[in-house]
Amino acid sequence: MVNSTASHVALNEQLIQLNAHPADKKAAIEAVGALLVQAGMVKNDFIHSMMQREAVSNTYLGSGVAIPHGLVEDKGLIEHDAIAVLQVPGGVEWNDGQKATLIVAIAAKSDTHITILRQLTRLLQNESLLAELSTTDQTAKIIEALTGEAAAPQSSETVKDYAHAIEWTVDYPSGLHARPASSWADSAKKLGIHIQVRHDNEVAAADNMVALLQLGLRTGDQVVISAEGDNAEALLAQFKQSIMALTAKEKEDAERAQAQMKAQNTGGWQPAENHGDALYGVTASPGFMLGKAYYLSAHEPDIVDAPVSLIEGGALLDQALNQARQRMVALIDSTTRRLGAGDAEIFKAQAALLEDTSLVSAACQLMVAGHGVAWSWHQAIEDRAEQLTQSGNPLLAERAADLRDVGQRVLGYIDPALKRTTLADLPEGEWILVASDLSPSDTALLDVNKVKGLVTEFGGPTSHTAILARTLGIPAVVAVGQGLHIIETHDEIIVDGDGAAIYVRPTATNIDAAKAWIITQREKREKEEADRRKPATTTDGHTMMVAANVNRPDQVKFAMAQGAEGVGLMRTEFLFLERGDTPSEDEQYETYQAMITALDDAPLIIRALDIGGDKQVAHLKLPHEENPFLGVRGTRLLLRRLDLLLPQLKAIYRAAKDGKDVSIMFPMITSVAEITALKAHCEEMRIAVDGPNIPIGIMVEVPAAALMADVLAEHVDFFSIGTNDLTQYTLAMDRQNPDLAPEADSLHPAVLRLIEKTVQGAKKHQRHVGVCGGLAGDPLGALLLMGLGVDELSMTPRDIASVKARIRQHSLADMQAMAAKAITFENAAEVRALTGDMA
Ligand code: PEP
Ligand code: MG
Repeated sequence: MVNSTASHVALNEQLIQLNAHPADKKAAIEAVGALLVQAGMVKNDFIHSMMQREAVSNTYLGSGVAIPHGLVEDKGLIEHDAIAVLQVPGGVEWNDGQKATLIVAIAAKSDTHITILRQLTRLLQNESLLAELSTTDQTAKIIEALTGEAAAPQSSETVKDYAHAIEWTVDYPSGLHARPASSWADSAKKLGIHIQVRHDNEVAAADNMVALLQLGLRTGDQVVISAEGDNAEALLAQFKQSIMALTAKEKEDAERAQAQMKAQNTGGWQPAENHGDALYGVTASPGFMLGKAYYLSAHEPDIVDAPVSLIEGGALLDQALNQARQRMVALIDSTTRRLGAGDAEIFKAQAALLEDTSLVSAACQLMVAGHGVAWSWHQAIEDRAEQLTQSGNPLLAERAADLRDVGQRVLGYIDPALKRTTLADLPEGEWILVASDLSPSDTALLDVNKVKGLVTEFGGPTSHTAILARTLGIPAVVAVGQGLHIIETHDEIIVDGDGAAIYVRPTATNIDAAKAWIITQREKREKEEADRRKPATTTDGHTMMVAANVNRPDQVKFAMAQGAEGVGLMRTEFLFLERGDTPSEDEQYETYQAMITALDDAPLIIRALDIGGDKQVAHLKLPHEENPFLGVRGTRLLLRRLDLLLPQLKAIYRAAKDGKDVSIMFPMITSVAEITALKAHCEEMRIAVDGPNIPIGIMVEVPAAALMADVLAEHVDFFSIGTNDLTQYTLAMDRQNPDLAPEADSLHPAVLRLIEKTVQGAKKHQRHVGVCGGLAGDPLGALLLMGLGVDELSMTPRDIASVKARIRQHSLADMQAMAAKAITFENAAEVRALTGDMA
């Protein structure tokens, strides 16, 4: 006799009746119930309970499978957990239009039947196997399918690769974890064809992130990726390119994690005297902090299993999922704006988890089985999280936290009483946060004014907690283990991020030693600041000029202290924006002269008024425009308002008499005609004040100027690329629109191509090219710009040290190779992944 148990649920030949022909649903339930009764699994009344269940809920699962079962309150009628199967090859009408061919009666006192339900869900996706089971004359096949591996992920024998197939060896050092899996699913969805990923005998649809994760792919695993649909071959090649483009970022993350681990063994603080309560973990973010602990206790929601009808429960779950989705979108936006697109990735990955239909159907099946909506959702999440934990892949196991986090969020919408308390409840003051683990939404809520350090029981160096802690610049030690429970709120503790150690309730001597260490570290940092003034010279000897964007003379000192070698952009519109009237020529002259004096012969580029767009000056009373960014802005306004242009030019030429290296620059140029007109005005004003001949340059910030660079270059002395506007005009994305902020990325290859074109045009006439838009201050952007051949970078003073440091770490040849690659890519994300390699 074939007898099998799946998690102690009995199913044997005696519990299966093949080739049955019940007259109707009632007869079918009686027949399948009788199997359970005859085998001694349930009491007679259980059949009645199954009938009653039909009156309150629909037990039809889909694809010919029905799962009659008793009422929750009748569990006492069950002697042993079991299932019975009635095979009805001709089908029996279950509900209107629903014909059941396999009737699986479930009798389960505990939740062991979840295993069976999971098998059934998988079976539902395997139509050919289902068809076979509803006609087979072998009970063993049914037992195998319901309790064995046959229903598990489809094997390569039952599912073939699609017609177009490629092979790929996973080269992500941490395997296919949540972030790349989410990116794969995104790409597959966008391509709109069926793409399947096979590893040995297991397959996953490429647009299903959870299925991809369940493949448990590790580095070195070989997969076959196949596709079918219109233009499948070409689209498959595109898919391969997009997954390969992630490799660089994955390697970067892994290297960074390794570097962090290395830092653990060096440079940590040594207590002055033996310290009893010392805990050790893994460095997640470097740094050192002495402060008070705040223990964030894990709150386990008390979920009552209150059954509801499937219709009511389904509607509630659907609504909760929608609310959670909306919240995720808002969280992605705010995190992107606050911390950057990279940190928002984790929420994108979580949002993708909410799209997983198998998760939702698992919850629905539990509701069908008579459980409450909150209970069913929680159980489905826990079940899936457990699978990830058991996968044997530590990175996947870490992602179980994401699943629980997103599950928790949905629970809060199902029942507000189940909402978890969060970091928003943290009291005022400065704290070192101690927690079992932090969910991504916890970390997004971290207030750096209150949280000065992090210690967690779980987590790893690549967990979101670690990534966020590094971004926020606070020391963090993770994976400390259970020892962390010795810490209590208000305990004094030391977190040594570099040494991966925590010292609990330090002695007075050790507190003094820690304070001395803090001073030593500060001095070290100050020494590093001294390097800011050193040139940004690449490892192969090329020096990039690094200047600052400064608007007022009193800001020059700070900029120079940060390592600026001059001012690459002085936005003069701020002279107008910060007051209620137009400054006179003399007032402007005084300001320009003060800039020149503060700069002490270092170069200064004064940009003529750039008014319009986002910079509206009320007292000028300019006419209202429907599209101010596309209206009379910058040079267009200057040429219409000579009352603004001429006094400014006069003031600049007067001040330039005292300066050694002063240039003038015009914004929003689109044509040679504008340059010719402006130059004529310059010459007139220069002569009027007997000023010196100074270089005249233009901003390249509209695509027209970039495309015409070789023509425009003939007429000017230099270019300065305004990547902020160049990005908005190239991508047609308002630079102020928060909804578009994540996509309005200056690293978009379209923007990079225009920069390349600008440089080529300038070089034709040996003209100097600077960049004064935000991309210049992005350390990775700066490397690309240098690789593209620009001569000067001008940025916010605070960005100078990191940009210079980054340039010093690489060769120009490497930057050029990276830039040449970047312009061939499809999107900014791929470029970011590539530049990440140079981190
Ligand atoms: C730019 O557009 O990149 C730029 C530097 O000018 P602004 O930001 O002042 O428009
Ligand atoms: Mg601009």
